[in-house]
Amino acid sequence: MPKLIASFQVDHTRILPGIYVSRRDRVGGRWVTTFDIRMKRPNAEAAVHPNAMHTIEHVVATYLRNSFFADKVVYWGPMGCLTGCYFITATEEETMPRDIEKLIRGAFRHMANYRGEVPGATAVNCGNFRLHDLAVAKLEAKDFLSREWRFEYPKARRIRCGGKTFFDA
Ligand SMILES: [Zn+2]
Repeated sequence: MPKLIASFQVDHTRILPGIYVSRRDRVGGRWVTTFDIRMKRPNAEAAVHPNAMHTIEHVVATYLRNSFFADKVVYWGPMGCLTGCYFITATEEETMPRDIEKLIRGAFRHMANYRGEVPGATAVNCGNFRLHDLAVAKLEAKDFLSREWRFEYPKARRIRCGGKTFFDA
């Protein structure tokens, strides 16, 4: 029996750092899972600075797409609220947060210890190559690794506005 997880609204006032399943879709015979890699407590502590988040996007995406998991990576990128990143995977079996915990810890350890040029931070490869901050990105990665990670979201009902149901992704 597939452990189908319906897309649900999350109570953002109770979110702690960790890895969560945001939604799961069946696409072309594979499970496409959208994970929230939540680095910060929304609205309760400072979000990641846009420059640092942009650097995390480049460095972690490069790490994941060169990892043993590369052929299962669909997408890695920052959340608009800057409290974390989306990680979308495509797998034969359903993938749970604990299944990618080691991979994500490895990616953030790589970020925390990163030396050298930020990959792709050039006018040719990036839409805003001056919007980077490697030093703060490393501190944010260290901070995330030092937190106690959770793996299940506190749920709330989806709200409706103007006759439409709200989704944030
Ligand atoms: Zn960029």
